[in-house]
Amino acid sequence: GTAEIGVTGLAVMGRNLARNFARHGFVTAVHNRSAAKMHSLVADHGDEGTFIGSESMADFVASLARPRKVVIMVKAGAPTDAVIDELVPLLEEGDIVIDAGNAHFPDTIRREKDLSARGLHFVGTGVSGGEEGALLGPSIMPGGTTEAYASLGPILEAISAKVDGVPCCTHVGPGGAGHFVKMVHNGIEYADMQLIAEAYDLLRQGLGASAQEIGDVFAEWNTGDLESFLIEITADVLHHTDARTGGAFVDVIADAAEQKGTGRWTVQNGLDLGVPITGIAEATFARALSGGAPQRAAAVGTLPADTQPWEVPDRDAFVDDVRKALYASKVVAYSQGFDQIAAASAEYGWDIDRGAMARIWRGGCIIRARFLNRITEAYERDRGLPLLLADPYFTAAVADGVAAWRRIVAAAALHGVPTPAFASSLAYYDGVRAERLPAALIQAQRDFFGAHTYRRVDVEGTFHTDWSGDRSEQPA
Ligand code: NDP
Repeated sequence: GTAEIGVTGLAVMGRNLARNFARHGFVTAVHNRSAAKMHSLVADHGDEGTFIGSESMADFVASLARPRKVVIMVKAGAPTDAVIDELVPLLEEGDIVIDAGNAHFPDTIRREKDLSARGLHFVGTGVSGGEEGALLGPSIMPGGTTEAYASLGPILEAISAKVDGVPCCTHVGPGGAGHFVKMVHNGIEYADMQLIAEAYDLLRQGLGASAQEIGDVFAEWNTGDLESFLIEITADVLHHTDARTGGAFVDVIADAAEQKGTGRWTVQNGLDLGVPITGIAEATFARALSGGAPQRAAAVGTLPADTQPWEVPDRDAFVDDVRKALYASKVVAYSQGFDQIAAASAEYGWDIDRGAMARIWRGGCIIRARFLNRITEAYERDRGLPLLLADPYFTAAVADGVAAWRRIVAAAALHGVPTPAFASSLAYYDGVRAERLPAALIQAQRDFFGAHTYRRVDVEGTFHTDWSGDRSEQPA
């Protein structure tokens, strides 16, 4: 065969990815379970490059040059396993199978083990940027072996987004590292979206501002440190008028946020690894609360607020406080996400370069943002940085907004406006910087009821107090 790369699974994502390969001059083999999608791709876009369409998997595999590079872009889960099972007997040693769907990373670890035992490379790859990114340049997060990346990497880098000429694609690490990092990317996306939603709500409730006016505020914020795709589209959405009612579009949307599950995976893994990703967790739970119809129905009009009307004396100062609180909370959410990557990297032996992750998220993906440059710089200054917040740049940036952050969280609490992500991020900030935490009391309680033992601040060793007896202390 002659095709340099193949794509099987030609729904919105696979179709656009295949077009992206072809537009970059790669001879692209294309296949879909139901052949109609393959034929329509070739009919509609055949002039964009060189496609080799096949109706059967055997013909598809035969059309590829060796080592074959096959991108699977089908529904995640069982369909991915079905395609792998069909593909593997047709492949030969050294061929590379790339799963570019949204796989859960433990599945990727399992599949990589299976395929490497058969002499094949398996590259679990995160792809972010949605439909448009797939076509015009996504952020690409490939895992798998260094050997596979050596021949596959240049092709993926060619079709990825570029920022300042630098591709938004790099080898993340072995095994499930690519899909893991994509998962955390999505978790951070949840936190970012929740923080933006809370900022919007504060401006709405604190100032009584219209969606249009708040759209203007977000557009203004998008010219500074907060500049990002999500802030930009927020301004766009808030400025949008509903065709049916002539009112603000945001006001006619049902306020129950849905999810496809990557936020939940991120939180579950945070619990497994014991990493406090509180921003991501609050964002995920906030979606659950919004969708909790029976609970909300029982509470609305029943649970008293006991608040005073909110009158903000200085509108400009308030808007600036919200901006600073948003930025500080966002730094916390990212700091936590990068902690999770570090913990997983150590746990699974992936050796992930966090600065490189921030670099490949600068373009193509949903969380693309100006401030990711600052994160890359922070990890370039210190690859082992234990806490992003403790990097001098971020310490100073957050310090500048701490007072504003406290005013906003306090005012929100006083006026009954829920800000779970703002408030939990501030609580994390105060927790992580505390010289002494009440965890000491928890250790004492655990020793009291369960003889779980404790360590002391003044003497080495582990101890137990005989709580039910004479309360003497013994080494444990
Ligand atoms: P879908 O997730 O809707 O999947 C549809 C595709 O899967 C079709 O090509 C379909 O083939 C194929 N398929 C389903 N079941 C099987 C099966 N048992 N055997 C063979 N093929 C099967 O497509 P999307 O393009 O939306 O997404 C593709 C992948 O990309 C998913 O894993 C998704 O999570 C991920 N992703 C999606 C993003 C997005 O914005 N949509 C962003 C980033 C990643 P057929 O036409 O024959 O039914």
